[in-house]
Amino acid sequence: MNQYKVLKEIFGYASFREGQEALVESTLQGRDVLGIMPTGAGKSLCYQIPALLFEGISIIISPLISLMKDQVTALNQLGVHAAYINSSLTEVQYRKAMENARKGQYKIIYVAPERLMTESFLSLVSSVDISMVAVDEAHCISQWGQDFRPSYLKIVDFINMLPKRPVIAAYTATATKVVKEDIVCILGLEDPLAAVTGYDRKNLYFSVKKPKNKMAELLSYLIKNDDKSGVIYCNTRKNVEEVYETLIKEGYPAAKYHAGLSDTARKQNQDDFIYDIKPIMVATNAFGMGIDKSNVRFVIHFNMPKDIESYYQEAGRAGRDGEPGECILLYSGQDVKINEFLVSQQTGNAELDYEERELVRERDNERLRKMTFYCFTNECLRDYILRYFGEYGGNYCGNCENCLTEFEDIDVTDEAIHIINLVRTSGERYGINAIIDAAHGSENAKVRQFRLNENPFYGTLKKVTLVRIRQIMNDLLVKGYLFLTTNEYPVLKMTDQGRNIIREENQEAVILKLPKEIERTPAKQKGEKKQKIADARYPQLFERLRVRRYEMAQQTHVPPYIIFSDKTLKEMSTYLPSTKTDMLKINGVGNNKYEKYGEEFMKLIREYTEENGIKTALE
Ligand code: ADP
Ligand code: MG
Repeated sequence: MNQYKVLKEIFGYASFREGQEALVESTLQGRDVLGIMPTGAGKSLCYQIPALLFEGISIIISPLISLMKDQVTALNQLGVHAAYINSSLTEVQYRKAMENARKGQYKIIYVAPERLMTESFLSLVSSVDISMVAVDEAHCISQWGQDFRPSYLKIVDFINMLPKRPVIAAYTATATKVVKEDIVCILGLEDPLAAVTGYDRKNLYFSVKKPKNKMAELLSYLIKNDDKSGVIYCNTRKNVEEVYETLIKEGYPAAKYHAGLSDTARKQNQDDFIYDIKPIMVATNAFGMGIDKSNVRFVIHFNMPKDIESYYQEAGRAGRDGEPGECILLYSGQDVKINEFLVSQQTGNAELDYEERELVRERDNERLRKMTFYCFTNECLRDYILRYFGEYGGNYCGNCENCLTEFEDIDVTDEAIHIINLVRTSGERYGINAIIDAAHGSENAKVRQFRLNENPFYGTLKKVTLVRIRQIMNDLLVKGYLFLTTNEYPVLKMTDQGRNIIREENQEAVILKLPKEIERTPAKQKGEKKQKIADARYPQLFERLRVRRYEMAQQTHVPPYIIFSDKTLKEMSTYLPSTKTDMLKINGVGNNKYEKYGEEFMKLIREYTEENGIKTALE
């Protein structure tokens, strides 16, 4: 066996994805690796394949119980013996697992970091041959990461206790420089092969909506997508409850998840979601890390998250199977206020002194601002995200709302000059609302109190609507002509770019891109997208296979997507395999899955082709 055979025959995949091959190869040669790949890129395979080829046992360290269970179930389905060791096991189960491990029955053992340094586990690893230690979600080792877990630091002690140093493989989706350095340094990776694949997830469609009524917007989306599985993220428990109640009233099969529910309820709801019993999950951000349900077709943010990192991670839970997924953010000004409040309330790390805490707060505010700009940009949304992570996308991706909307260019240079001049002549001391009101010539208390009504530029934009002035203001902020300070009462300041524009010799035009009114209801686009999602050649057959998969899942207590992914079923209902050889050519069908389910699915395909008089390749 080599890695290519394992990929094909056990996992049923025809080829490696970007990054995988080099990581697998290096690990097999005994060189440490660090894999930085976005969610859904296929990190697990990179350590699972070497684990199956190594002589000894491989230890996989993973932070979450649900994640371990899922992966072990998936491996068992492939016919691989694997086990997990964590606090969810009873004493009896634990003993049994350890006994089996000692007998060499598992090639792969998933372990929670807290379990590593226990006496029984140390005694196990001293008596067997350990070929590799793989650290999943490796960013948990860094204090700079989003999910620092002190127990991850024990991994180092654990590795040092081993009789022989195994290959060490670290994987994460978090790629900031400090986190990366921490992983290499703290884990003591030796000259690791580092593979960083792009952050882009081409199959995801991005969109931002600013509806007056979010609930109505949500319901209208669900009506059109009621056969799909998806996650709806809300910023508070209260919102989760509200959205959840509404969906239930409307008859949607929804589950909910937030930190206020009991452990049992959370587990039950999560399982209902994973098993597609309740394919819609309404949750706070407490839900998610380690959920790799592959057929999530949409992730809707009912509220804007606090930064692009969180947003991309959460939205990235859509489309892990590589099939189209939709990521929709429902924005409202209120979301910004709540996030600003949360940032200001953060007590943060008690070890930080006042100055450090201020610095953290300022950075948080800056990240929040970039998130807000995402909601206002009229440029390619994917490009915006990729640039945030330091990558360059094209300016046009063709798969986000902005790329698919027709805009018209409006020259607002004059208006921009008035606004910037107003900011300048009033001493750069006032916030957004005061300046907008003054430009429009409003006579409210604030304007009078700040004496903005005495400013020479007061009311110069009287003829422009408040909405338009606000749009221009946002544009000036997004494009960097003005900026907002990050203190408690943010005020507008000019930038050099802004200064240039009000000079006499200014040549630069400020162009506001606004969606053309007629294009606002993109019925055409919707149709196109639907087409893309239901692109099995025989959609009715696809439905039948899905129903059968669901029944099998119920019988065998395995999540449907672990039996076969949507992508696999879609290929089946396009190529109509009627022999074992053909079936094994389908992505996601390996030998073991074929033995388990192949006949059953071929029977359904045969029935369908006969009923409809469709000729398959062999006839
Ligand atoms: P990550 O841990 O990077 O977020 P996973 O390891 O959970 O991603 O993989 C995501 C999905 O991609 C899984 O359903 C997995 O089976 C699938 N996958 C991984 N590698 C390949 C490949 N080479 N070809 C096809 N599908 C793959
Ligand atoms: Mg993973």
